[in-house]
Amino acid sequence: MSPAGHLGKKKWSHALGSPFDGLVVDLAAQTSSGDLGTTASTLVPRESATSEVRTLLVGVLPDKVSRYNAPSRAESIRRSALAAAATKGKLAIVIVLDSEEHVGAAVMAASRAFPLFSAKSSNKVKDRLKRSVEIVCLDAHGKFLPISQKFQDASAAIRDAAALVDTPPSELHPASFAAAARQSLRGIKGVKITEIVGEDLQKAGLGGIYGVGKGAVVAPRMVVATYAPPAKAKANGPHIALIGKGVTFDTGGLHLKPRGGIEGMKCDMGGAAAMLSAFRLLASQHGSHKVTLILCLAENAIGPASYKPDDILTLHSGKTVEINNTDAEGRLLLADGLSYAVRELKADVVIDAATLTGAQLIATGTMHAAVISNDQVIEEKAVAAGFASGELVHPLIFAPEFYRHEFPSPVADMTNTVANRNNAQSSCAAQFLWWHIEDTNAKWLHIDLAGPAFLRGRGTGFGVGLVTELCERIVSRSKS
Ligand SMILES: [Zn+2]
Repeated sequence: MSPAGHLGKKKWSHALGSPFDGLVVDLAAQTSSGDLGTTASTLVPRESATSEVRTLLVGVLPDKVSRYNAPSRAESIRRSALAAAATKGKLAIVIVLDSEEHVGAAVMAASRAFPLFSAKSSNKVKDRLKRSVEIVCLDAHGKFLPISQKFQDASAAIRDAAALVDTPPSELHPASFAAAARQSLRGIKGVKITEIVGEDLQKAGLGGIYGVGKGAVVAPRMVVATYAPPAKAKANGPHIALIGKGVTFDTGGLHLKPRGGIEGMKCDMGGAAAMLSAFRLLASQHGSHKVTLILCLAENAIGPASYKPDDILTLHSGKTVEINNTDAEGRLLLADGLSYAVRELKADVVIDAATLTGAQLIATGTMHAAVISNDQVIEEKAVAAGFASGELVHPLIFAPEFYRHEFPSPVADMTNTVANRNNAQSSCAAQFLWWHIEDTNAKWLHIDLAGPAFLRGRGTGFGVGLVTELCERIVSRSKS
């Protein structure tokens, strides 16, 4: 709750019953929210000699946030939920909202405080992970705001995406990721899944995915899942393809990352994890438009079969790439995925999500992903979807005329990394992707979520709510 919004004594409804209502008002009144919200707690007397001691924890959200923050203050809700998650026993979270429109963002934010993965041996931690948490939303007058099935499903999908990111890289390799995707999509009507594995990638012209992944013990692969509306339903709206970067571990390749830069690189499949969950949500809605998921899965490993600096890869677009940095592998995978979606599957709109550049963190930080698009309308919809879902994005420059020259190769069409690292690196990485679909009519949005996808050593599931909301906005003409 935010104090100014809800704590006039008259305004606060008797929502929780005695003695909680009074304690909520008193605790919140004595607590300053700070920039990002805070929590205060107190013990509540036992009801009887045999009942448990109860804790009341009040999260106080800031009254005002900047125009770059979500109106729901989703991040502040997540932080309050984190404090609640650290308590023991049964837990109910009551969220008081300014507007019914914030229910989805609030519930998705709270769910991020309850990750599914843990390898800790303590039973206490395991019990905490297993416990069921009740979440209730109220408006300022204490009116119950229902949480739709859609947002309950989205919360589960966010936690699933985060759990994939948290799984250690020797367990989650390209084959087990593909198996997890099949499991996740099992039973959804209208979904068909195919897989192109190992040498077959090369035969299908997918030289980027093959080149990056061929040095690993487990073969690289592309998983394609398509949801098609029932034949009798009239196809309505564009065919949207979601493409995810799924580098299950990124050593950097022969340009090996140093200690300090290599730990945490299990997160380099965060884009693919988010797209898998977003696709599951969209396909489960049984809409009347086609949606395709493309997971580009590879481990960027070192060994005698690894791709090498100076190698030239031919990507699906037919364009050739001279490798001058084996650690810029994500773009090679994604360029194949994007080209395949547009050329083979005839997608009208292609959206890719990737932990692509460290420069994204420099440009837009840990709270906002960067988006880059050749289409102004889709870019604006992405920003709006970010505010609505609480998964924030900020646009970066799309200007091929300024960045094309950064990839000069004497022997191939382009190199895979830039000549000048001080020239809009994240936009240049996107420029590389664009090159491989620029001669098509595709509308394209690139989401670089290197920062927000992995915070303090944990996957966040960032991108699931954003992409789902964005796709709904692209299909629906009424929403901006
Ligand atoms: Zn890399």
